Amino acid sequence: MGDMTLKERLLNALEGKKVDKVPVCSVTQTGIVELMDEVGASWPEAHSDPEKMAKLAIANYELSGLEAVRLPYCLTVLAEAMGCEVNMGTKNRQPSVTAHPYPKDLEGMEMPENLLDKGRIPAVLAAIKIIRERVGPDVPIIGGLEGPVTLASDLASVKTFMKWSIKKPELLGQVLDFATDATITYANSMVVAGADVISIADPVASPDLMSPDSFKKELQSSLQRFSSKVDSVTVLHICGNVSHILDYMADCGFEGLSVEEKVGSIKNAKEVLGNRARLVGNISSPFILLPGPIEKIKEESKKALAEGIDVLAPGCGIAPMTPLSHIKAMVEARNEYYA
Ligand SMILES: [Zn+2]
Repeated sequence: MGDMTLKERLLNALEGKKVDKVPVCSVTQTGIVELMDEVGASWPEAHSDPEKMAKLAIANYELSGLEAVRLPYCLTVLAEAMGCEVNMGTKNRQPSVTAHPYPKDLEGMEMPENLLDKGRIPAVLAAIKIIRERVGPDVPIIGGLEGPVTLASDLASVKTFMKWSIKKPELLGQVLDFATDATITYANSMVVAGADVISIADPVASPDLMSPDSFKKELQSSLQRFSSKVDSVTVLHICGNVSHILDYMADCGFEGLSVEEKVGSIKNAKEVLGNRARLVGNISSPFILLPGPIEKIKEESKKALAEGIDVLAPGCGIAPMTPLSHIKAMVEARNEYYA
């Protein structure tokens, strides 16, 4: 047990097997301005340049102590490759989708030929290979992407997506199937490139936007198909208070479910999951990790460990202005907990 590698520790934790200690990492975005300056790999360039993308990702493993390398830093790589327009953001603002290819209907919707050669997908795949070469075989690499629901809403616009959910279920089903196919293809290409864990963030599946009933009836099957077709351990992140869909999320087939602090008691959440999935999180990115202070970060981290969190992690994407010392505090808290 003492000889457990970081990769074994994370994979075991997500699969519900024995670990020597709970791993600490981030399954959501890790880019922070302090590290961009430290290693000379800033946004927005690090979203497109494989060398910079890899450098910044590795920095958050080497310099903060997080026990995985996670990339990339946005939820727009696949959306862009599928025809969405993207604003690349700034040094401290993530890229975002600004225009949608199918805002009215699905006329002409077709999978791009050579999807994996489109947009920034080759850069992400190249970055994964660079990372593997630099960190060796024993450090886990987490490949992130937008989930099928979020991609579908990017293709049609959130407004249209929500409208279809109420008025045109056949169009909703079509765009979801199409988006799910694309996420599976892209995720598996990351696995082939060297990713050990695939982590999707699917904010549009949140109860903030879609009712628990819609989640079960309209969205769950796409997430189930994704997890069953992707050839690695998978994690599902959904933002907001997911208490009312946690039971449905647990039936989606992902090894890990990443949740925010809004989910409330870790103990209760774990009871809902049973042995269907492991809980990842849930240190608040905007309210604890960003502002600190360090003592508060440590206190919250140790509380999460005591309540049985399976992987200690930020509750959502790390805010770019978060100080490095605050991320380190989460790692230190885990170490102190086992000291
Ligand atoms: Zn989130």
